[in-house]
Amino acid sequence: MNQPLLGVRGLTKQFPLKGGLFSGHAGSIHAVSGVDFHIDRGETLGLVGESGCGKSTTGRCVLRLIEPTSGEIKFEGKDVRALHAGELRNLRRDIQIIFQDPYASLNPRMSVAAIVGEALIIHKLTTTRRQFEERVVSLLETVGLQADHLSRHPHEFSGGQRQRIGIARALAVEPKLIICDEPVSALDVSIQAQVINLLEDLQQKFGLAYLFIAHDLSVVEHISRRVAVMYLGCIVETASARELYTSPLHPYTEALLSAVPIPDPKVKRQRVRLRGEVPSPTHPPSGCHFHTRCPIAQFPLCKSEKPALKQSSDGHWVACHFR
Ligand code: SF4
Repeated sequence: MNQPLLGVRGLTKQFPLKGGLFSGHAGSIHAVSGVDFHIDRGETLGLVGESGCGKSTTGRCVLRLIEPTSGEIKFEGKDVRALHAGELRNLRRDIQIIFQDPYASLNPRMSVAAIVGEALIIHKLTTTRRQFEERVVSLLETVGLQADHLSRHPHEFSGGQRQRIGIARALAVEPKLIICDEPVSALDVSIQAQVINLLEDLQQKFGLAYLFIAHDLSVVEHISRRVAVMYLGCIVETASARELYTSPLHPYTEALLSAVPIPDPKVKRQRVRLRGEVPSPTHPPSGCHFHTRCPIAQFPLCKSEKPALKQSSDGHWVACHFR
């Protein structure tokens, strides 16, 4: 079997909770609990779940922007957790990240040329001023911006244009994988489609792989080859995008999918409303983390035993005692 571009096994991240001045350690937030997934070259894995389910923490752990508590992360076969500072710098050339809020992630005092070209300087990818400018202009044009945007500052752009600047910055170092952390969540629906189309075009052109993080299944449907659904720090279902959208197995996926509007007015889908809120990751429920909200839970089994992620058909994995 070919080695995946990125392989993640048993990834776990717990954030310690600090108590009062004298009480010291006061427990942990179980942000990510034993997550497994892989991404092949040139493919997109959608990672979906409600806010706070651990998907952004997972993305940041891959880049070691957050240090994982345990688990294995392999990029092109290299053990990411064992890399020292110099090797980590090279990894961050191969893996880039784009963020949800392009405005917050762009330094308002820097010009577009400085923002997009910063990584060219850090990684010594251009040697002359002219080369630098040509490369930055070419990157701007690649994402649908123009050369006369070079000297402008982030506040002079719309949200969609700012996201394009973020994408140009990520492309500057010719990455193999981009972690797209909710890149369209802050944008209007029409602009969302433009940015997703741009990401698809860039994938075709440069053979990029994406870990595409979103809280909404409708956003990842078109761009993802496979989708992983996360709930309270765990992956509860993984399948090809087509199979997940037509034959979901996990009750949580069914609920998320029922909220996705269908363009054909003749097709009706019954809305599954989950009771209650997502429980606190400080004290995740025992057994299946979803049992407090699951419409088909059976007790005591669901409360006492955590279901393993098991294969139901080729490439379709689900963590539920009854599916
Ligand atoms: Fe629901 Fe039980 Fe399945 Fe969990 S294991 S999803 S609680 S039926």
